[in-house]
Amino acid sequence: MLTIAIANQKGGVGKTTTAINIATAMAATGWKTLLIDLDPQGNASTGMGVGAGARGFSSYDVVVDQLPLTEAIGPTGIPGLDIVPATQDLSGAEVELVSVEERTARLAQALEGHRGHEICFIDCPPSLGLLTLNALCAADTLLVPLQCEFFALEGLSQLLQTVERVQQRFNPALGIIGVALTMFDRRNRLTDQVADDVRDCLGNLVFETVIPRNVRLSEAPSHGLPALVYDKDCMGSRAYMGLARELIGRFPPERQAA
Ligand code: ATP
Ligand code: MG
Repeated sequence: MLTIAIANQKGGVGKTTTAINIATAMAATGWKTLLIDLDPQGNASTGMGVGAGARGFSSYDVVVDQLPLTEAIGPTGIPGLDIVPATQDLSGAEVELVSVEERTARLAQALEGHRGHEICFIDCPPSLGLLTLNALCAADTLLVPLQCEFFALEGLSQLLQTVERVQQRFNPALGIIGVALTMFDRRNRLTDQVADDVRDCLGNLVFETVIPRNVRLSEAPSHGLPALVYDKDCMGSRAYMGLARELIGRFPPERQAA
């Protein structure tokens, strides 16, 4: 299983929207896909239609109580896409994990040897705390959604430093598969300028596919559906399909087919 953490400690940059729609796009392309909601806000769970009352075991049980991963996995309405939901108790995990041994390795241990899925996406919370560290330790690689706004690059350097620390201490093989520009607004010149700066700074690390600001993407979660199901032909859905294709193109050659 190829594991991709979707992280950026900045809030509201499109992590969850990216996680939901990329995971759906991969499942639609025939990959057996797992989405792990590692954010106490539970937005990925809600957005996939797994309401608070329908969440049995959760990522909290896996990370804090070491419940076997398979017991926390449930279906979504999407064929080929399963989910480990998040519940509010996860907000206590940051504190509860501090006192346990190998506190950054809990998720990696849970995922080790998992065979039921070919690809896994982890939706991270907006912080660089223990939950995100667990995701970075468990992941093969990182996908960073970046909103085209003035402070985007400043937050990024802090994230890249964290990645370096994780590589040095816990997970030397951790890669960065790419940076995805989100909420791109053609009519806004600042957005254009920021996108150019980010490309100057990060070069090929930035995906060519840009996710436009698109109201259908923000409406879909309130229906408990990925935008790709809610309105598969809207600009946002098309962009996420394109991003998924580009993402697969960056996998090692032997991993490019489901
Ligand atoms: P958090 O840090 O709180 O977890 P996040 O990084 O996961 O946030 P999202 O929840 O995906 O970000 O997006 C923040 C808000 O912006 C949501 O209301 C979402 O519906 C909306 N949104 C995300 N991407 C787009 C887009 N491309 N066009 C329009 N709205 C978007
Ligand atoms: Mg989120």
